[in-house]
Amino acid sequence: MRAHSPAEAYDGRSPFPQAAQHPTAHTGQVALTTAIVLTPFLALAVGVWLAWGNGITLTDLLLAVAFYVVTGFGVTVGFHRLLTHRSFTARPWLRATLAVAGSMSFQGNLIDWVAVHRRHHAFTDRPGDPHSPYRYGAHLGGQLRGLAHAHLGWLFTDQHVPAGRYAPDLLGDPMMVRIARAFPVLCAASLLLPFAAGWAISGSLYGGLTAFLWAGLVRIALLQHVTWSVNSLCHMIGDRPHATRKHDRSTDLWPLAVLSFGESWHNGHHSQPSCARHGRGRRQIDPSATLIRLFERLRWADHVHWHTPGDLQRPRTVASIHSLRTGTSPTSAVPQLTGHRNGVRRGDQRRPAPYRRP
Ligand SMILES: [Zn+2]
Ligand SMILES: [Zn+2]
Repeated sequence: MRAHSPAEAYDGRSPFPQAAQHPTAHTGQVALTTAIVLTPFLALAVGVWLAWGNGITLTDLLLAVAFYVVTGFGVTVGFHRLLTHRSFTARPWLRATLAVAGSMSFQGNLIDWVAVHRRHHAFTDRPGDPHSPYRYGAHLGGQLRGLAHAHLGWLFTDQHVPAGRYAPDLLGDPMMVRIARAFPVLCAASLLLPFAAGWAISGSLYGGLTAFLWAGLVRIALLQHVTWSVNSLCHMIGDRPHATRKHDRSTDLWPLAVLSFGESWHNGHHSQPSCARHGRGRRQIDPSATLIRLFERLRWADHVHWHTPGDLQRPRTVASIHSLRTGTSPTSAVPQLTGHRNGVRRGDQRRPAPYRRP
């Protein structure tokens, strides 16, 4: 009889294998996590109010918004919907532009980003998920520790996600490999460009430095925490209106919809990973989908995977096509994204192939 892998044997409640145990409790979770996340942003708002006209100017704010929008869409439209899930195809120049913009968000090089995120979808909230809040168990203590792990802590672990197994398509794309290798340079540009713009617009070095602070460092920190909140909060707090795979606890969290450019409709996304729109219906605002629609109208993007009318009328019926499949043939050693309705990759539970450097 075949031995079960940790992911197959997972019961949906226990700590993941080798994760530490914590005592069980079930109160105060939402209040505490909300305070943890909102307090820094409230402090930031107070800081802006106190520093206005002296340590921050309108130029700084407009530059911060501009760089947030460009790098944010680089992550959501570029890294996530285009490169990870192949929700559409883009003209080569647009594909490269989005990859460069996403790389300027200080979230790692694009190939590693995609590999980690594909693995997250393959093992969502089960052993093998790189950043599940349920890693340490479903009780309160475990979830709080898991929240920190899913938000930020996983970045400090030595989990190796082999790009050769999870992103072979990008390793085979010379342009994407070049942009991935240029990640340190693009990070430097992400800080130097606001500095140069602030200096040029204000005509003073001090103006350059305040732009560096707000449109560089603070903008990067905000986008990082919004992205990480999709990993952490959007698997803990919010609605779960759509059917997903077993153990998948992704949620829709409306307060983050605008800042995350639609990524916080995360339950909708996990129910149909390769759909270009994560929100359902007009009320679930999804700026990333709006931008993809614009690209499609301009004929810069095609083969866009949109919801069908049937998807929207019967959101729960997609559950049946989200079971994890395991391939065994040698030719299936490379993970494949299947048709647009599900995007479930085949062969998720095989042993990793040897890692290939680009
Ligand atoms: Zn997720
Ligand atoms: Zn995804």
